[in-house]
Amino acid sequence: MSRKNRPWLFYDTTASVCTTCLRQVEAKIVIKGDEVFIDKWCPAHGSERVLIADDAEYYRLCREVYVKHPEMPERFNTAMQHGCPYDCGLCPDHMQHSCLSVVEITEHCNLRCPVCYAESGPERQSHRSLADVEAMLDAVVANEGEPDVVQLSGGEPTLHPDFFAILDAAKARPIRHLMINTNGLRIAREPAFVEQLARYQPGIEIYLQFDSLHDAVLQQLRGADLAQIHARALAHLEQAGISTTLVMTVKRGVNDGEIGEVIRHALSYRCVRGVTLQPVSDAGRNSGFDPARHRLTVSEVRRRVAEQSGLFSLDDIVPVPCNPDTLAMGYALKLAGETLPLTRHLTPANLLAGPRNTIVFERDPAMKDAVFKLFSTNHSPQSQANCLSALLCCLPTVLAPALSYENVFRVLIVQFMDARNLDLRALKKSCIHFAQPDGRLIPFEAYNLFYRGDRAEQTAHIQAEIRQVTEWRRG
Ligand code: SF4
Ligand code: SF4
Ligand SMILES: [Zn+2]
Repeated sequence: MSRKNRPWLFYDTTASVCTTCLRQVEAKIVIKGDEVFIDKWCPAHGSERVLIADDAEYYRLCREVYVKHPEMPERFNTAMQHGCPYDCGLCPDHMQHSCLSVVEITEHCNLRCPVCYAESGPERQSHRSLADVEAMLDAVVANEGEPDVVQLSGGEPTLHPDFFAILDAAKARPIRHLMINTNGLRIAREPAFVEQLARYQPGIEIYLQFDSLHDAVLQQLRGADLAQIHARALAHLEQAGISTTLVMTVKRGVNDGEIGEVIRHALSYRCVRGVTLQPVSDAGRNSGFDPARHRLTVSEVRRRVAEQSGLFSLDDIVPVPCNPDTLAMGYALKLAGETLPLTRHLTPANLLAGPRNTIVFERDPAMKDAVFKLFSTNHSPQSQANCLSALLCCLPTVLAPALSYENVFRVLIVQFMDARNLDLRALKKSCIHFAQPDGRLIPFEAYNLFYRGDRAEQTAHIQAEIRQVTEWRRG
């Protein structure tokens, strides 16, 4: 008798949450042809199957090659009491320190984007007090010692009445690099504001919302005609020479055909250090979101970069070892008016197969560490350039010019998981964390799903339920 096989490969088990009740559930990772799915089962709400990659080879590369020792924070902030993800954080079971800490300083915003995980808008008027913001910055410093990257966010952080006092407070702490996550309206409209901002250089970077060059698309994602605003904001930033990253929220069928156009646009500005691509996730306000139509996985965004940019190939966008499930990165060098993709020279396959086999990636831990360090999210533009220069010096196959941050261009794909595709194994490696005034650092996805605003109430209910079961187990 011949047995029937399942029509897919059972790759791994993990845990997730049920999309309906947000209780932790068991999950399987299964591979069917090129596609990778997370299969979940909730005793109350049944089964779910969600696509998490459309390139099984890339997924396996993330899981099997780009693996590193978890880096610890200086301290943990909560105890393990209810189990992941109900003990954030950081609890001792978290597997990566804060590469990037987000400090939300206001709920107020001068836009009301149809896509906004913080659900901000003009009607929300509450700003964090300066004392609270300082407590949040202190929490980051206590966890990190010398934090690599702190991002001021919101709402629209530039609208905080004490915005420059907050910049002063951040600058007074041992923070290496400060990012300002902004929609660019004040930068476009107020030259005096940009002038004042420029005085905080070096060590600041503008993380500029930039989903498209076209108003019809911006209307869909941001509810406003912003193309002219973006153009003016970029002109001001270029003039002031302030390091800038363009941040594109990518929605399938809306702007996923414009990734190449935005990358080429970014390359035309000296002040722009790179583009961050964030596939839309189902968090906060997400008007008209249809999971079947609008979701994109990292591997799909990666393929669009390769198809559309005219610069990067698939080999140029590699998993970020801190959290390879959700982050991917590629580098190019801007030299004498030319842009050269670089990552392909640094991937394990190429380092292994280099002429004379001088570098054997897996057998040379120092080289592996250096490459992994470069491909991590905790870089300022300058530290990236330094790290790259140091690394290129050890590579006999690549020309190694002295680099400054103006020569380095980075594409980063950042996927924030939502309840559907949450893999707790990947969540434990999250390295982007929200600071809280009470000293906690909460992983990005966990915060939006379980701790932000009203979500905290439902989580408190789940925690109480778990405590009851625990009591019962203890007898
Ligand atoms: S996500 Fe991290 S911090 Fe939160 S409960 Fe899980 S392991 Fe702990
Ligand atoms: S996404 Fe940013 S700009 Fe848009 S409403 Fe939210 S905070 Fe404001
Ligand atoms: Zn359920």
